[in-house]
Amino acid sequence: MSAFPNPHASIIVWFRQDLRLADNPALTHAVRSGRPVVPLYILDDQGEAPWAPGAASRWWLHHSLSSLGAALEGMGCPLVLRRGRSDVVLRDLVRELGAGAVAWNRCYEPQAIARDCALKADLKAEGIEVHSFNAALLAEPWTVKTGGGGPYKVFTPFWRAVKEGLNPGEPLPPPAALAALPTPPDGDRLADWGLLPTKPDWAGGLRAAWTPGEAGAARRLADFLDSAVGQYAEGRDYPAQPWTSRLSPHLHHGEISPRQIWAAAMAKGDSAPEGKGVDKGVAGFLRELGWREFCHHLLYHFPFLPERPLNPKFEAFAWQDDTRLLQAWQRGRTGYPIVDAGMRELWATGWMHNRVRMIVGSFLVKHLLLPWTAGQAWFWDTLVDADLANNAGGWQWIAGCGADAAPYFRVFNPVLQGEKFDAAGAYVRRWVPELAGLPDSVLHQPWTADAMTLRAAGVRLGHDYPHPVVDHKAARQRALDTFAAIKDDNT
Ligand code: FAD
Repeated sequence: MSAFPNPHASIIVWFRQDLRLADNPALTHAVRSGRPVVPLYILDDQGEAPWAPGAASRWWLHHSLSSLGAALEGMGCPLVLRRGRSDVVLRDLVRELGAGAVAWNRCYEPQAIARDCALKADLKAEGIEVHSFNAALLAEPWTVKTGGGGPYKVFTPFWRAVKEGLNPGEPLPPPAALAALPTPPDGDRLADWGLLPTKPDWAGGLRAAWTPGEAGAARRLADFLDSAVGQYAEGRDYPAQPWTSRLSPHLHHGEISPRQIWAAAMAKGDSAPEGKGVDKGVAGFLRELGWREFCHHLLYHFPFLPERPLNPKFEAFAWQDDTRLLQAWQRGRTGYPIVDAGMRELWATGWMHNRVRMIVGSFLVKHLLLPWTAGQAWFWDTLVDADLANNAGGWQWIAGCGADAAPYFRVFNPVLQGEKFDAAGAYVRRWVPELAGLPDSVLHQPWTADAMTLRAAGVRLGHDYPHPVVDHKAARQRALDTFAAIKDDNT
């Protein structure tokens, strides 16, 4: 490879978690470089690939790549698809094309950082220009520091610090044109990657619920800001209501950027008439984006986050190992309606409302004493928004072993949670239809219904719907005792 860069050689834009044309700094850089552009996506899911996408994410990825591919094709610059170890595939393509430069937007998972740093050094040593950009975060993890110079472990001061210095700027427009190579390199056919389920095709619910891709993301943001953000502050905890944005899978796959969201939400806040709750809604919504930033901050500074508890005391926690209970939880057959509704929503749509994620998570780790890593693994496979930072952050938070975490002694009561956040029962009735005929008074605790009420609703407990797999009071006490044991051990 020549040590003298050829300014006419192509530039590879390596797409990863940034599957969009607008506000894509790597792509914008490539266009401005004046070089022919080669857009590339590498599927690195073979062998030992850590945290390769789960089944629901693979479904999303297929459709997102299909959408990006169509957009690039429309601009005369086809997306090249290759499969294998991404560092090897990228180096091979650079050589094959005699490319002069590579551009990408940064990822923040520990394995990706290690890979990208090594690649950057190798390519630069070979005379290839490498340019990387921030396209996924409002503030990159190393830019936010406590007074003592370390990372934050508490959300509120973290978010205050991020907001203080924050100026995300205007999102970049999509490129007006792309200069392609006269003969683009060969690539795989997306259909041959087998990302979609076939036998059986379980993705019907996902298809009905989602439109992956940049256009779908933009539409979802616009709809949310038009019709829901005003309800967000008060309503974001009610799972039967459409008052959260459902942007998480679009954000994870980079079909929309936090900068685009920030700009649109701020503009909405500025233009809204007074007193409609929009300002409050916008602030609350952006604060949740702040939790996403916080989780990325934690994963960057504590790269063991998906594997080990942040609070080392929890290394000694006496987790149970019970396949039968784990399966009851996974299948939505615990006998606690709000838990089962959440797990079935997840299975059907690849997504679950945040309040219910907290309820089912708490139930797994506290009522069943099953390890948070088992919950994390199930979510990883079934969520369309499965995200290493947010998933690990969410599970450690709920298990009480993470940063700024829910204290272990706070054990959600699934009956009271259901009665509070699904008082009219619309959520449970939708996802647990066998209980739909029960009156509200017993819907969240069907085992308390008398025989006549059950019969009138057509419910035979133990046949149509399970008895509770654990008793709440006893399970709560067991969780507190187990926690007390590790607390005492280490104090
Ligand atoms: P909105 O309320 O509209 O929020 C806007 C955006 O902010 C979201 O799209 C998301 O990107 C971000 N956000 C919101 N809440 C959180 C949060 N608590 N932590 C981090 N980011 C947040 N989120 C994921 O994106 N991927 C995951 O794998 C994931 N796993 C989770 C596991 C558990 C046990 C828990 C308790 C939470 C998890 N979350 C995860 C966070 C949260 O539940 C989802 O981001 C949220 O429900 C997505 O819905 P929304 O887009 O309507 O959110």
